[in-house]
Amino acid sequence: MADHDRFDLVVIGSGPGGYVAAIRAAQLGLRVGCVEKRATLGGTCLNVGCIPSKALLDSSEHFAFARDHAAAHGIRTSVELDLATMMKRKDQIVRELTRGVEGLFRKNKVVRFTGTGRIVAVGTVEVAGEEGTETLTTERILIATGSHPAALPGITFDGRRIVHSTGALALSEVPRRLLVIGAGVIGLELGSVWRRLGSEVHVLEFMDRILPGMDRASALLLQRALEKQGIKFSFGASVQKAVVEGERVCVIAAQGGESREEECDVLLVAVGRRPFTEGLGARELGVRMDEQGRILVDATWRTSVPGIWAIGDVIPGPMLAHKAEEEGVAAVERMVGRAGHVAYECVPSVVYTWPEFASVGLSEDEAKERGIEVNVGTFPFLANGRAKAMGEKDGQVKIVADALTDRILGAHIVGPRASDLIAELALAMELGASAEDVARSVHAHPTLPEAVKEAALAVGKRAIHS
Ligand code: FAD
Ligand code: NAD
Repeated sequence: MADHDRFDLVVIGSGPGGYVAAIRAAQLGLRVGCVEKRATLGGTCLNVGCIPSKALLDSSEHFAFARDHAAAHGIRTSVELDLATMMKRKDQIVRELTRGVEGLFRKNKVVRFTGTGRIVAVGTVEVAGEEGTETLTTERILIATGSHPAALPGITFDGRRIVHSTGALALSEVPRRLLVIGAGVIGLELGSVWRRLGSEVHVLEFMDRILPGMDRASALLLQRALEKQGIKFSFGASVQKAVVEGERVCVIAAQGGESREEECDVLLVAVGRRPFTEGLGARELGVRMDEQGRILVDATWRTSVPGIWAIGDVIPGPMLAHKAEEEGVAAVERMVGRAGHVAYECVPSVVYTWPEFASVGLSEDEAKERGIEVNVGTFPFLANGRAKAMGEKDGQVKIVADALTDRILGAHIVGPRASDLIAELALAMELGASAEDVARSVHAHPTLPEAVKEAALAVGKRAIHS
């Protein structure tokens, strides 16, 4: 075997989990190979996930601002959508970032293999590429193969009329009626994009609320804001069948014991993602998985088979790019005897609608379910000077703190730039800060973070501006 096929670590998958792990391992002096079956690096996140969706969210936000809000600022515009340019801009951003990862691999001497990786034995990975099969030998294998969109029985994706997130990121025209199954993160983010660009958007959700699992009261605030923007929600609805009939999709859903029929131009199925291990050879080698197909790992990301580790969407936990990245770094640090660690209780999550919804730690209900007595402080953006100047009235900051110790247990922000605001509270939680610590730290005026300070003051019932 040639020397260039021998590694200290082979990473399978180049998403945010895999590529970050590969770079960190190279920094630590390991000889690293990374196998990716896509032509471009960066995984779901860079190619068909976080980045293209945020590009379209930003562009459609500008469009909606110009159309709906610029006049209130004294700016007269005549607005016309050029969807092809919006899509080209998104594709260019994806291209630049995926090429950026190629550059980082070169800089760190991570050897890239293009093809499907299969673990044929402990220490051996076969890569099936366009030009044949290559065999790599390695001390360690890290599985970072991510996830793929879940499907529903009775519904077949055709990539045009019935789509999952990837199709909804690349529609060539604005659908007149977009029906979305699932009021989760993807349903709300991509539903928002197309609503802003002019679609009638109707979201059918199985549960009785949007964003199951996130703070209920905050989710309701977001729902109201999205309804004001014209997004329609139907809860307790489960879709049984969808058929393409010419240029429309006919959807049959059950709701309240009755069957109803809906028509749309495009149906977006956004009912979650599933771990991806097809063709990987892991199961055959005895790598243990749960009933949902997620690879089980111990506290240092070792699988049940010595020499094989796993991270990211393919293992249990929230399916988030930053969670995958942190696991990637910590797992390779553990491989070489360093103290890598992920503070799972402090992993923030963000829904990039407008207003945004960002959350970290326990919701009020979760704290109560665990029998923890809490004090809750809230502060509305309506009373924040900067939000007022921006014309942003919706939402609030909510902080959940332990009633005995005042330690912050969770924070939930619905409002402008909640995605940026949550960082302060995630760091506060990492450092074990109390609400009083945040309340007593100086925040610049006039800024949105002052709403965070006021919510922290409100935990002790001493907010100044509400
Ligand atoms: P992935 O990014 O899925 O990467 C896995 C890679 O492995 C893929 O490139 C795949 O081709 C490759 N692969 C799989 N099997 C093999 C094999 N056998 N051989 C070779 N290669 C293989 N998360 C956020 O935190 N913020 C967001 O804003 C956000 N937005 C999202 C928007 C959308 C529309 C979607 C779909 C997801 C979004 N996510 C977001 C989730 C995020 O993309 C994932 O959590 C993240 O990409 C997981 O990283 P990963 O490295 O575990 O796997
Ligand atoms: P999700 O789990 O967030 O939401 C799926 C929704 O579909 C849930 O509300 C669920 O109750 C509903 N549902 C399930 N089956 C249904 C059915 N038969 N009929 C009606 N509703 C049904 O999943 P998603 O929105 O597809 O996103 C997938 C993953 O991608 C998530 O885990 C998320 O973490 C990740 N993601 C993250 C971001 C972000 O961080 N901003 C953005 C997009 C995706």
